[in-house]
Amino acid sequence: MRWAMAWSRIVGHEAVVERLRQALERGRLPHACLFVGPDGIGKELCALELAKAAQCPNGRQDACDRCPTCQQVEHGNHPDVAFIRRADGTGRGERRAAIGIDQVRDGIQDPIALKPFGGRYKVFVVAEAERMTEEAQNCLLKTLEEPPPHSLLILLACRLEPFVDTVVSRCQIVRFRPLTAAQVERLLVAGHGVEAGLAGALARVAEGSPGRALRYQAGGAYDAARWLLDQLAGMPPGAEFAIAAELLDKARGGGGGAQEDAREWLRPVLDLLGLAWRDLYVRAAGHSEALLTWGASSEALDRLAERVSAATARRLAALVVEARDGLEANANVKLLLEAMLLETGALLGACAAAPREPVAAVR
Ligand SMILES: [Zn+2]
Repeated sequence: MRWAMAWSRIVGHEAVVERLRQALERGRLPHACLFVGPDGIGKELCALELAKAAQCPNGRQDACDRCPTCQQVEHGNHPDVAFIRRADGTGRGERRAAIGIDQVRDGIQDPIALKPFGGRYKVFVVAEAERMTEEAQNCLLKTLEEPPPHSLLILLACRLEPFVDTVVSRCQIVRFRPLTAAQVERLLVAGHGVEAGLAGALARVAEGSPGRALRYQAGGAYDAARWLLDQLAGMPPGAEFAIAAELLDKARGGGGGAQEDAREWLRPVLDLLGLAWRDLYVRAAGHSEALLTWGASSEALDRLAERVSAATARRLAALVVEARDGLEANANVKLLLEAMLLETGALLGACAAAPREPVAAVR
């Protein structure tokens, strides 16, 4: 299907785009939409294109992408299009912030009641809307119950569970499904200049999310996770502290980086390690190879698969979850890595002595 320029930037999600275009064409855009689907999958880009199409004076369901209005929306300086995001909260010892009631009141509730400054709608996009506190959601509810005529509120979220029911029931739910690995791969190569081999590997571990693939590539997270798997597959007894030190060194960008940056850098690395252990479980338990994410892209993982049992793979994955929780809870990064790697070494060491019986994979 070929769409006008603006919508054609969106890869996959054909049914979603078609539904939004039809709503625009019929003048039946809902006052509130809740875009729900995995992170990095294109929800925000879709919200941007919807805002553009809603405001562009040169088209009904398609933005022209050339007029000053389209340019303003694109560059984030249209007076009637606002993006609400939670604060970074990356200060020392600070947890990442939620979206609080003040942000909703000052950023949405008050300005949405005003007439548009010149656009057709007043558009408010809330990123990571599931991070709104319950208080903030209840505040938003007042706007949802009596939406001003020119308002368009777009909530972006990975999950519906954190929302109060009354918010969900007053929004039109728009579901975003994961892209295929081939779609993600093409997008990485054509849109972001990622080298083809790496793009294929990133597309598999990203589980249908281009944004996640780019995050894994950024800062060398994918390379670091591969390196870590190599180290763990061939680890001599007692090497855990050295590996932890080297990983921490990478996380600190060679030594000088702040603890908070190291924490941020380690998140995707640990996620990738967790996926590797999940792959080991899938292989050891004989589940379908379609579930594999790393697949054949790590030789070290292949070697580990020869000796790691399903039970051990589960325990390895649990260690990553624990370390990941520790990162979020601001635990000391060095201690956290050492604890994880010591336990990992003990588990891998124990199965080095007793290779597991091979199980035929279900194809
Ligand atoms: Zn335009």
